[in-house]
Amino acid sequence: MNLAETLLNWYDENHRELPWRQDQEPYKIWVSEVMLQQTRVEAVKPYYERWMKRFPTLHDLAQASAEEVLQYWQGLGYYSRARNLHQGVREVAERYGGQIPNDREKIITLSGVGEYTAGAILSIAYNKPEPAVDGNVLRVFSRLYCLENDITKPAARKQVTELVSGVMPDDRPGDFNQAVMDLGSAICTPKNPSCTQCPLDQYCLAYKQGRQRELPIRKRSAPPRVIQVAAAIVQAESRYLLCKRPAKGLLANMWEFPSIEIENKNDGPMELEGLLCRLGQQAFVEPVPVLELTHTFSHRQWQIVFYSCKQVRRQEIADSNHVKWLSPETWSSLSFAGPHRKMAAELEAQWHG
Ligand code: SF4
Repeated sequence: MNLAETLLNWYDENHRELPWRQDQEPYKIWVSEVMLQQTRVEAVKPYYERWMKRFPTLHDLAQASAEEVLQYWQGLGYYSRARNLHQGVREVAERYGGQIPNDREKIITLSGVGEYTAGAILSIAYNKPEPAVDGNVLRVFSRLYCLENDITKPAARKQVTELVSGVMPDDRPGDFNQAVMDLGSAICTPKNPSCTQCPLDQYCLAYKQGRQRELPIRKRSAPPRVIQVAAAIVQAESRYLLCKRPAKGLLANMWEFPSIEIENKNDGPMELEGLLCRLGQQAFVEPVPVLELTHTFSHRQWQIVFYSCKQVRRQEIADSNHVKWLSPETWSSLSFAGPHRKMAAELEAQWHG
């Protein structure tokens, strides 16, 4: 038996039962693979199931509004992935009559479909012998072949892609890709690989050399840049002042309490009063914070402090598409930006309770 046969035998006995593995529908594979990037399988399951109830087909998603798509993605983070997925399915609906292409050249041109997602859809849904190299596959193959390349670099990915192509069986490429992923998440784990229970121990150079904990090589990336943010809770009667973020950039088009990046944490209330003034509102920002949160994105970290306001004088708003006075009763249809969701949840709880 060769490496692929050994691995597939193990997979047949041990594969995980996952909602997106119940059939080989390319749309479902696409959604699940995008959700699974950077998020654990267990955490994805409820989001996936809720998503499929609301958007059971590619056409349902293509016809949905951007706002609703973001709302169903809320909690998974990396919102640009949801936007790209939405854009990608619209492209499939327009260009290919709703049929996701089954060849690499076409599928790779779709928004949100990179090398990994293309490989996953083509191999799992269409049974094409295409590698799908994610973090699990990079780790498992780096260990199997004792690779010394830094896995954060394209050269390592290229090397692993070629190795996967070389051992992938023509008859079960999708199962092979999923088997490597399952092995990576259950046995060949990042910190403590269970080599004595591994079906591939006889093929693994790292295990033979006792180097499984040293590999893969991963150079440390720079820590995220810390940004101080002050946000104001401005309430007038039953409504709160909310702003929509710009259409481009971090957390695009999501809603938040009026907020501003600041250099000195102590300047928060003063800077917020200036911001409210520019929004055409009058309020006194209380100096004592009501909530402090830290939210880490891939390259930056918000340290956000929320302040409440008093003596609020609600004024008419000129830019009413991007700034609104809204009651908590309407918030369930809004996508809140990162930590603003937590603040909104606290206020909603007070409101209802
Ligand atoms: S033997 Fe150990 S290091 Fe090698 S593939 Fe298996 S779990 Fe990973």
